[in-house]
Amino acid sequence: MAFTDVVSAGNCKLFYGATIITVNQKRQIICNGYIRVDCDRITAIGKCPYPDALPDGAREIDCRGKIIIPGLINTHAHLVQSLLRGLAEDLPLHNWLCDAIWPLEAVFEGEDGVNAANLTIMEMLKTGTTCFLDPMLTYRAGFDQICNTMGEMGIRGCLGKLVKFTETNRQLSISDPRDRDLLAMSIPELVKAHQTYHGSHDGRTHVWAAAGTPRGAPISQYLELGETCAAYGISATMHCAEAPRDREIYHDSYSCSAMEFIRGAKLCAAHKEEPKEKGTHNLVLAHMVNLDEEIDIPLLASTGTSVAHNPTSNLKLASGVAPVPAMLAHDPPVNVSLGTDGAPCSNHYDMFQEMHLAGILHKGVNHDAGLIPAETALEMATINGAKALGLDAEIGSLEEQKRQILWCSIHMAWEALELHLGLASSKVTRSALLQVLSMAVPVAMST
Ligand SMILES: [Zn+2]
Repeated sequence: MAFTDVVSAGNCKLFYGATIITVNQKRQIICNGYIRVDCDRITAIGKCPYPDALPDGAREIDCRGKIIIPGLINTHAHLVQSLLRGLAEDLPLHNWLCDAIWPLEAVFEGEDGVNAANLTIMEMLKTGTTCFLDPMLTYRAGFDQICNTMGEMGIRGCLGKLVKFTETNRQLSISDPRDRDLLAMSIPELVKAHQTYHGSHDGRTHVWAAAGTPRGAPISQYLELGETCAAYGISATMHCAEAPRDREIYHDSYSCSAMEFIRGAKLCAAHKEEPKEKGTHNLVLAHMVNLDEEIDIPLLASTGTSVAHNPTSNLKLASGVAPVPAMLAHDPPVNVSLGTDGAPCSNHYDMFQEMHLAGILHKGVNHDAGLIPAETALEMATINGAKALGLDAEIGSLEEQKRQILWCSIHMAWEALELHLGLASSKVTRSALLQVLSMAVPVAMST
């Protein structure tokens, strides 16, 4: 069945015969299951046959031989960088930024930003992503246009409006031509954008603060941002402790670790329960590769701060490998989600590739085949992403009253698995089923 057939069906749809990987609290997998969707919410889920009568005009969709998983959540995706794919190869992070990416982003004009965003969103939808967090929309990207086009395309998105303090720093040999637009990337401009667009498009547009990475700007400016986010309930994201040099900058310029800086600037909650009390103030830190592990991991956990893990980007830019197993093993664990980063640093926006890499990278680096099993990689791409964005009551798992489902057609992978195991689908083991996801190609989706 084509994508258009599914989305144009009536208000009530019944998907039946599928293997459903719910990612609910019990992590149930339902063989030969059904999902009923009324308008944009799941109203029933269980094992076939569906017990009740359907209303007139309801559409029944045969999903036999298919797997249904929750829509994937990309918690670090640069919308306007799809136009820059292939333009900054084989460079380490700081040269990649100063010599290629920032100068290119500084000359965006007219429709460049919105055209790039359209391309990126199409690529994300094609590969199963139904919600994302953009961590750095510059002034020249055209924030207003991007809000509007994102709403029209049907995806859910958290748009991080860049709040920037002077990043050009001669002492550190850093020059950022985007600094000429600092006035348009100020705290008052963030508040204005939040008041204008947050909650628009039936609640699918979320406006976040995207803090520029501290590279010498006074911490007092970040504190002003942290206090503004808390006062207005604006969630925030930031690139943090990405390259080895970033860790040195925290120590040399601020005499502290990355998370001590974040805590000092009040960008995170004082303790884990605070965001839930206030309702909307979340913090997602991208990368977190070069940390002071003994200081930063406990602080991440105790403040309820989430980490967006970007394994492809970290490898391509030679940043290193984030200590994700240590974050997950901490008591309480750090909430770790997944992101593809932008096209110039990962060459794709495909969360299946990111799940695959996250699932094998840490095994090899740590010589431990038990690390990041397939189920954990899927959790990072779904329910952990929803928690990071403060949206886990709405998305991230397949449960009654939640929004969004993703219909994955994996005919070839499924048949190959059955052939290999010589089993009927109902007997396929849980781990084998989850491993199939690394081969899956989603072809259709309903909202
Ligand atoms: Zn990034």
